[in-house]
Amino acid sequence: MAAHTLLDKPLQFSSLLAISLFLFLVPSIAELQRFQQSAKADGSLSFLVIGDWGRHGLYNQTEVALQMGTIGEKLDIDFIISTGDNFYEDGLTGTDDPAFNESFIDIYKAKSLQKLWYNVLGNHDYRGDVEAQLSPILREKDSRWICSRSYIVNAEFVDFFFIDTTPFVDKYFINPGNQTYDWKGILPRYQYLSRTLEDLDSALKDSKANWKIVIGHHTIKSAGHHGVTEELLVHLLPILEAHSVDFYVNGHDHCLEHITSSDSKIQFLTSGGGSKAWRGDINWWNPDELKLYYDGQGFMSFQMTQNTADMAFYDVLGNILHKWSISKEAISTM
Ligand SMILES: [Zn+2]
Repeated sequence: MAAHTLLDKPLQFSSLLAISLFLFLVPSIAELQRFQQSAKADGSLSFLVIGDWGRHGLYNQTEVALQMGTIGEKLDIDFIISTGDNFYEDGLTGTDDPAFNESFIDIYKAKSLQKLWYNVLGNHDYRGDVEAQLSPILREKDSRWICSRSYIVNAEFVDFFFIDTTPFVDKYFINPGNQTYDWKGILPRYQYLSRTLEDLDSALKDSKANWKIVIGHHTIKSAGHHGVTEELLVHLLPILEAHSVDFYVNGHDHCLEHITSSDSKIQFLTSGGGSKAWRGDINWWNPDELKLYYDGQGFMSFQMTQNTADMAFYDVLGNILHKWSISKEAISTM
């Protein structure tokens, strides 16, 4: 049956065939949930990106949070993005899990961090009660918390597309080892993945924003421990390329990383240094493409306007490890 092909024979398709098959099998177009985010009065927007963090303050989570507070205040940030693996090791046990306080509320206390947090789910979140992280009860506990499986944030001249990447990864289904994953709301898997890709494709096509940023937990390109996520390379990357996405931002590898590509305009950014890092865990990557690989803790910042984007990565002491800028003309909407 075609519906089992992705599970039984992963990566047997060419990317285009796989996507067209996905689109063919899902007849209706669903709308992704949307949030509206205002830019500042001067037309700029700034935010931090953190990933792989919730460890009750351990493994330098608290120290990274302190520096986020300082940099967040300096840049007058508008919100925070989390690239997933929000709560280690096994997500939340429920909406009353004290880890929500001990790993989130009690850690990110700085005044500048009292902004909305746009979260995606990581594979460790799927090991717990996923629906707890999606529940409005968490927003009642802390109004900063925004978490959905896949959704869009429209921020005037930037559109953010948050994508639930964990269900794409075959090994969690085929070879989960001792882990159990909460697939409620995901099955049948093939249909879920089809719809996710279709919704993203449609939303990117309709986007009029000058900048398009896609956020998922898993890597597309990475020199880190997990490396390339083949399923995303095959199924997700062609959609991002077709719609001129500017940045793909992920966590999962516990490092800070900036990769450009000779055959794609997309910049691949890993911000997975929110707590435990993997010192020395790096694979070879073309040095012309690998602009930064830092195997310690930290986070990153964006400062954007209609025509410019300034990015920086910071270590656990708040030192800038790497920064760069891009500018481009506004897209004509005529
Ligand atoms: Zn992960």
